Amino acid sequence: MTDKKNSFLPNVGLKHAIDLLRQTSMVQENLPDEFPNLGIGELETLDLLGPHVLDGAARLDNPRAFAHMDPPTPWITWATSLWNARLNQNLLHPATAPFAIEAENKVINWLAPLYGMDGGHMCSGSTIANLTALWTARDTRGIEKVIASEAAHISVAKASRILGLPYEQVAVNPKGQIDPNKIGDISNACLVLTAGTTATGVIDSLTIAGQAKWTHVDAAWAGPLRLSSTHAHLLDGIDKADSIAISAHKWLFQPKDSALIMFRDVDLANTAISFGGGYLNTPNIGVQGSRGASAIPLLATLIAWGREGLAEYIDHAMSMANMLAAEMSKEDGICLWAMPKSGVTVFRPLTMSTEEFYVRLPDGMFSTCVLDGKKWVRSVAANPLADIEKIIKAVREAVDE
Ligand SMILES: *Cc1c(COP(=O)(O)O)cnc(C)c1O
Repeated sequence: MTDKKNSFLPNVGLKHAIDLLRQTSMVQENLPDEFPNLGIGELETLDLLGPHVLDGAARLDNPRAFAHMDPPTPWITWATSLWNARLNQNLLHPATAPFAIEAENKVINWLAPLYGMDGGHMCSGSTIANLTALWTARDTRGIEKVIASEAAHISVAKASRILGLPYEQVAVNPKGQIDPNKIGDISNACLVLTAGTTATGVIDSLTIAGQAKWTHVDAAWAGPLRLSSTHAHLLDGIDKADSIAISAHKWLFQPKDSALIMFRDVDLANTAISFGGGYLNTPNIGVQGSRGASAIPLLATLIAWGREGLAEYIDHAMSMANMLAAEMSKEDGICLWAMPKSGVTVFRPLTMSTEEFYVRLPDGMFSTCVLDGKKWVRSVAANPLADIEKIIKAVREAVDE
């Protein structure tokens, strides 16, 4: 039987958990098949689960990991997430989370002005942020439909369905951006522009922001470029949006679940998306109810690295993506889809099928996507610890093999 008091107080187990994080190869023992009647205790559980959890995960900080929008996380976020787990603050109840609410306000107040926004809140991902934005658009401005490009993220289609709003997908131009000539009537629409499409990292022309009844920019991936003095201009025009979504668990290097929804007029937005009454002392804003203090790891990262420190990682990622693209464009056996716009480099082999090429590449190095009916290899520069020379070498070997 576990000791009740010890289960809720820190002891050697926490240090042991950190030691396990550092261990390399571990022996896996079988997990119980059934829900045990009697527990085996915390330390034994760490030893049993450690090898499964730690070895059974893709290492996003591996020098050859260049596949997904999920970054490795800085250790300061591990430490602050541990504090969060221990305190279990709930942003729904200011009484339980006085500092966590202050932290969230600070993070939003620091970031929102870079995008011309006035405020907002954190949520579990851009899927929820996009839903929150479209909900606000519907209930403040009475938008009657949602328009986005065919390259928009599925969460935009999902949100439209949930909200009962017709969803129109617009063709993209040869650069992969929403084609402004094909958008049609936007006087009653919420126009969703994507800053960093999931498949190719393309940024829709943001100069059309502000022309529809409501403009939402889904900047889940590329939003953090605004922090970089070298790359901020790629998002010029974003400050004309009515709302912006950014996934902090992508290019802001945060552990999941961490995202921001920001509004040009936060008071207007909050009136539309707040529910009060009952047991709540303050109204619940947004889609989620109970919500953890994801602002604390983000605040820690912003203070530890500063804007320039964060921008350095993003700039480095951009240059790795460009380097990969430049090398791919020189290869006879490779077709480069386009020069990367926001750290996503897409290419395919010309001398064999993409499937055949893909299996020749190291496991987990890249992902794939389908564009214009063809399968492509997709790389995403989310891992600042990637070794781009090694990655390029692996591609060359796979082409020449
Ligand atoms: C990842 C992504 C989303 C969804 O964000 P989650 O944080 O995974 O919910 C939405 N839009 C774009 C463009 C994305 O890349």
